[in-house]
Amino acid sequence: MSDTPDVIVVGGGVVGTAVAYFLAKRGKSCVLLERGRIGGGASNAASGILSSSPGSSQYSRLAHRSLRLFHELAPVIREESGIDIEFAECGDLTLAMNGSDAIALRGLTNQLSTMGEEARWVDSDELRELEPLLNPAIPGGMYAPESCRVNNQRLASALASSAQRYGAEIRQGVEVTGLIVEDGQVAGVMERDGPLRSGSVVLASGAWTGAMDRWLYGERGPSASRIPMVKPVKGVNLNVQPSNGSVSRIVHGSWGILVPRNDGSMIVGATVEEVGFDTRVMAGEVQAILGVATALMPSLSDAEINWSIAGLRPGSGDELPVIGRMPEHANVVVASGHYRNGILLSLATGEAVADLLDGSESESLSDFDPARFF
Ligand SMILES: Cc1cc2nc3c(=O)[nH]c(=O)nc-3n(C[C@H](O)[C@H](O)[C@H](O)COP(=O)(O)OP(=O)(O)OC[C@H]3O[C@@H](n4cnc5c(N)ncnc54)[C@H](O)[C@@H]3O)c2cc1C
Repeated sequence: MSDTPDVIVVGGGVVGTAVAYFLAKRGKSCVLLERGRIGGGASNAASGILSSSPGSSQYSRLAHRSLRLFHELAPVIREESGIDIEFAECGDLTLAMNGSDAIALRGLTNQLSTMGEEARWVDSDELRELEPLLNPAIPGGMYAPESCRVNNQRLASALASSAQRYGAEIRQGVEVTGLIVEDGQVAGVMERDGPLRSGSVVLASGAWTGAMDRWLYGERGPSASRIPMVKPVKGVNLNVQPSNGSVSRIVHGSWGILVPRNDGSMIVGATVEEVGFDTRVMAGEVQAILGVATALMPSLSDAEINWSIAGLRPGSGDELPVIGRMPEHANVVVASGHYRNGILLSLATGEAVADLLDGSESESLSDFDPARFF
């Protein structure tokens, strides 16, 4: 690689590694800088649910495209990286916890199926057949067979290894502290050991992207005076080992989810809290998660807790991702703000950023434009 790569990517979560993957695969020289370890941020704490979004908004199209890319690329990435990301089309049950929930959820199911979505109502008998370990008092739920899951704890590493195979340089333990600005133009990034020059910079730093506009605009930027582009939204998940069987599908209850993993364990979660950059796991959070999980699946009270984890979702003010060029700085691209769906949206975001940087964009990204925060 030449001394000045085409692109520096800041952040090695699922989004940054997906960007590096698509860029490197298209022959761009690319250096990814991660201050900790690859996939160690929110991407490590997620549940790995990949559920498409109904409708035809730009967001729905991005989600749909990403899910297609997962179907196409999961075997390819395994071949390229030697890492199985455990992608599976397992289906998804959204449960009604009482009679009034059931009326509302039946209405939603009908609405989605008239929109052409694969969703149908299952009554309590069919629910018992599909998932015998769920609480028998649950009156029914909506079944979406096309929802998928992935092992999010493997995804960023797999994408980074594949990107390396196509020539990307992946550097861990390197914190970016600013941007090099010369005559009003961004010429690269600053890190502890000095400047690193590049043609373009992609800010894919998850919840931490929100403060980076200060490097360009100082007190004029959104993080100083208005709504920040991206803010941290804490989430806690547990991994448990059930003693007498797991669920086969993703299960959503009110305020809780159960997600099966290939090794027989389950992810149970997840909290949603705005408490700044705090990643401690608190007893009350664990208690709340277990309360919901055992209400959904009573036998989980005998499960062993393997581990707990907290992560910071990159939430944006309007809950839409932030993908696009920074105002006045066309060679600085933001890829963040994916909030609760960054695992799902990672591949399509990587592809979209690569399209932007090589001028071949086909889908409009106007809803995700960072300029909406300025
Ligand atoms: C509990 C929980 C459950 C979730 N469940 C799901 C789910 O089921 N499905 C789904 O699609 N999404 C889910 N999400 C959301 C998803 O995890 C995030 O949207 C996604 O991981 C964001 O990826 P990212 O790469 O933008 O951020 P991150 O994974 O946080 O990566 C950002 C990286 O940037 C690095 N960085 C920051 N600043 C710098 C710097 N100055 N220099 C160098 N590196 C830097 C950080 O160290 C970090 O590794 C969940 C999140 C949580 C917390």
